[in-house]
Amino acid sequence: SAAVIHVKHTVAHGGDTICALATAPGRAALAVVRISGTRTRFALETLAGALPHPRQMSLRRLRDGQGNVLDTALVVLFPCPASATGEDLAELHLHGGTGVSAAVMAALTSLSGIRLAEPGEFTRRAVLAGKLDLTEAEAIADLVEAETESQRRQAVRQLGGELGRRIGDWRERLLGALALVEADLDFSDEGDVGDDLLGPALAEAISIRIQIESTLNDNRIGERLRDGFTVVIAGPPNAGKSTLLNHLAGRDVAIVSPFPGTTRDVLEVRCDLGGLPITLIDTAGVRDSHEPIEREGIRRAAARMSEADLVLWLAAAGEASADSPSGALKVRTKSDLVSASPSLGEISVSALTGAGVTDLLGEIEQQLRALVGAEPALITRDRHRRALEDCRAALLRVCEGRVKAAREYPELLAQDLRDAVQALGRITGHVGAEEVLDRIFSSFCIGK
Ligand code: GDP
Repeated sequence: SAAVIHVKHTVAHGGDTICALATAPGRAALAVVRISGTRTRFALETLAGALPHPRQMSLRRLRDGQGNVLDTALVVLFPCPASATGEDLAELHLHGGTGVSAAVMAALTSLSGIRLAEPGEFTRRAVLAGKLDLTEAEAIADLVEAETESQRRQAVRQLGGELGRRIGDWRERLLGALALVEADLDFSDEGDVGDDLLGPALAEAISIRIQIESTLNDNRIGERLRDGFTVVIAGPPNAGKSTLLNHLAGRDVAIVSPFPGTTRDVLEVRCDLGGLPITLIDTAGVRDSHEPIEREGIRRAAARMSEADLVLWLAAAGEASADSPSGALKVRTKSDLVSASPSLGEISVSALTGAGVTDLLGEIEQQLRALVGAEPALITRDRHRRALEDCRAALLRVCEGRVKAAREYPELLAQDLRDAVQALGRITGHVGAEEVLDRIFSSFCIGK
């Protein structure tokens, strides 16, 4: 589309100086505007007068082109190349508030050669300048998005280069193996090479394939932590599902009514459970129904249950419990209505009095922690997983299909190794595919 072409053109061009509000818009104590590119010094001189000492904050009066004072601000210049973007980079620490930042942004963008940044363009320039690899750039996005402690920790680990280093190691080793195969190709014409070069190359490919296999075999925990775990609240109509969701969410999100079959769609609430991001999902009551809208609700409930990380199966105290799906956590609701103690394996709660709710939350957290495990996940995005799967597929061709044939067709072996190296390069950005960059940075906010 035209929009995509526009982004590609302006971003790939890269020569422009860009500026953006780096902090959230709205009323606040401070607002930070960033400028990056060759016209940064010119912009600073125009707005703030003489250039400040590099990397030192100085208090300046900012003026527009007509000499009107816009704000008094702290300005700092990070000269190229030792800056986050690798270019001249400046920050203006303004007084917060929409009026101030709007006036400063208007003054900046009225200067020739300076324009508003595209989403993620500062980080993109950092990647292009080799300051960050793609996994670190993604980690910055994840860190900004992180709502809970476990998400923050995962993003910080990735920003520390954990994933990038592992991929880089494998890539280096595979390049080494490829060099052996290519040496074999070069020298085999000249008769005896002396050493067996293909044997060590194959051994390396096999060892890396095994490591990739175990990395992929991680229960998708990294992705699930990024997206949040889904906990589905299900059970027969009137079991108290909506009331429990409201109680857990601390606000009225689901319509609670005494008439069975009121929740016909699916309602979601995101919350933080001991640092774990979870999405609580209320579903339509499951029962036999001939009413079309209710049946659709029940169908959606079943779909949500099958994808859930955890299902809470609710049944009201004193009522016969319908068969719960396997693996579901059984919850007895409305415990305030009866005095009988709950049966074994059930957690008894009352959304009315709050009794048992802390136990229930503790049990949910424990079950999710068991899923997460102790080992931090390396893969945090589907993009990483698909590239690693491609790498594994190429290495499988190297290792299994062609071990014997390899000696006869080393050029095929070399091609498979090249495919494997390329797949890994896509993860860190060693393969400079513009579409990959476009896709990743389009999800950033402006100013990052
Ligand atoms: P859902 O159909 O499973 O979503 O059930 P609702 O949450 O709409 O609740 C059905 C009825 O049970 C409503 O009248 C609620 O007020 C009532 N209810 C829900 N939880 C409790 C509870 O803990 N104690 C009591 N006494 N009533 C409850």
